[in-house]
Amino acid sequence: MSKRILLVEDEPGLVMTLTDRLRGEGYQVETAGDGVTGLARALGESYDLIILDVMLPQRNGFDVCRDLRQQRNQTPVMMLTARGQVVDRVIGLKLGADDYLCKPFEMLELLARVEALLRRTPAEPSSLDGEIFRFGAVQVDFRRARVLRAGVPVDLSALEFRLLRYFIEHRGDTLTRDELLNEVWGYNAFVSTRTVDVHVAWLRQKLETHARHPKHILTVHGLGYKFVG
Ligand code: CA
Repeated sequence: MSKRILLVEDEPGLVMTLTDRLRGEGYQVETAGDGVTGLARALGESYDLIILDVMLPQRNGFDVCRDLRQQRNQTPVMMLTARGQVVDRVIGLKLGADDYLCKPFEMLELLARVEALLRRTPAEPSSLDGEIFRFGAVQVDFRRARVLRAGVPVDLSALEFRLLRYFIEHRGDTLTRDELLNEVWGYNAFVSTRTVDVHVAWLRQKLETHARHPKHILTVHGLGYKFVG
């Protein structure tokens, strides 16, 4: 079965180029030219990946991404942002996007990232499937990919969930940023290790009682991170 990609983009030229190229790689591609149609498609059908432009008519990509995650849709999202807009990237990742790419981009880079995002879905079977793992006030249901903190659902992006899972699966081990990039992001050529720090900070904010004084997701100075239950 070929993977299904939803492309939400309003520039006709880019839509055509991307669609041709992705189809040429064997993917099924559907498109939406504005945020409202894109969100409806994404929620109404099942895709393996959504490529989501930020600047869209009707609803922008940030709103679409946030709405998707609020509806508990965990399809990986790669956002396309304007060049050099660091703030855009940070907002995108915070709203639950899994990756971002700045326009203009090299087609090969886009394809490499698409492949990396698709490779990690669906989640690989793991010894933790079907188990509930608890630490502090947090309860992680691996089968349903749900996280509760003090009984309240926590919104984690698909990437944050995978990061948390990796931490838990390797609890007690010191994990370097490079290892986390390789194992959780699936590639390390394009993303800096700072990305790991940013996501760890968000996980702490969402899960730790005191994000500045974490009890579970610990920094190992000069080495990386360590999860303790
Ligand atoms: Ca656009």
